[in-house]
Amino acid sequence: MDPLAGKYLRPEKWPGTACPGCGLRLLHREVLTAIDALGLGPSDLVWGTAIGCTGRQTYATWRGDTFAGTHGRVYALATGLRLALPREKRILLTVGDGDAFTIGLPHLLAAARRNVDLTVVVGDNLGYQSTGGQYGVTTPAGSRTDSSPYGTWEPGWSDGGLDVLGIVREAGASFLARHTVLQRDAVVESVKAALGTRGFSLVQVVYGCHVHYGAQALGDGTVGAIQGWIRARTVPLEPGPAPEVAPAGFRTGVFHDARGARPEFTERLRDHVAAVRARAGRTS
Ligand code: SF4
Ligand SMILES: [Mg+2]
Repeated sequence: MDPLAGKYLRPEKWPGTACPGCGLRLLHREVLTAIDALGLGPSDLVWGTAIGCTGRQTYATWRGDTFAGTHGRVYALATGLRLALPREKRILLTVGDGDAFTIGLPHLLAAARRNVDLTVVVGDNLGYQSTGGQYGVTTPAGSRTDSSPYGTWEPGWSDGGLDVLGIVREAGASFLARHTVLQRDAVVESVKAALGTRGFSLVQVVYGCHVHYGAQALGDGTVGAIQGWIRARTVPLEPGPAPEVAPAGFRTGVFHDARGARPEFTERLRDHVAAVRARAGRTS
């Protein structure tokens, strides 16, 4: 068994449910590498999951405490846990692009607005892949998919100057980054930074789906084809505001770093409760 998986995961859950060769397994391992580099043990972190390929691969794999949420709602559960758990306990959520940026987006934005101390790792397979490869909001423009046989026509959040991470930034997030799964060291560093953030943090990791997206959009369902295509489309994020017309491709790097700039949700609530009690003349 992979030594990191052996250290942190339930033995019967590795290598997991992802298709052979899927980048999702690389992502799973990169997250473990970051956890290990921080010196965390299974009791230091609670791991939540959601739906789809990313949810299924990571569901109940962690040796420590785990939980699962319904589609798009895992942030609300995690917010409740954040209030209940000791401050030093980390909460990590591994979700897909649908859980993060479509059905889950209002809930995710609420967590960012409140600056809840959570780390969200978004495994972005470029659409709804566990149901056969329908397009979603991170599917590149013009892609031929199961639900767009003539190519996607409506704007997504990765092309034409739009970037969903800009919305999350404006909602109040403390730390945001985007990488591809092939940028292993960068993913590990960003997940480490995110887990060390006292506030809302998110790392989007593009891994693509060779089985559906590769076969349908690229005409080649091999692992080598999707990896070569991802490498060719990877461009570094330029510092400063997002360009009016963003370059096509995966803009990777640290998108936003405002760690420490806003009070964290539970601290703000506890301060508020203490102030209300003080006004009422109560000490406990
Ligand atoms: S369907 Fe695609 S994204 Fe999902 S596990 Fe298989 S290869 Fe990976
Ligand atoms: Mg998806």
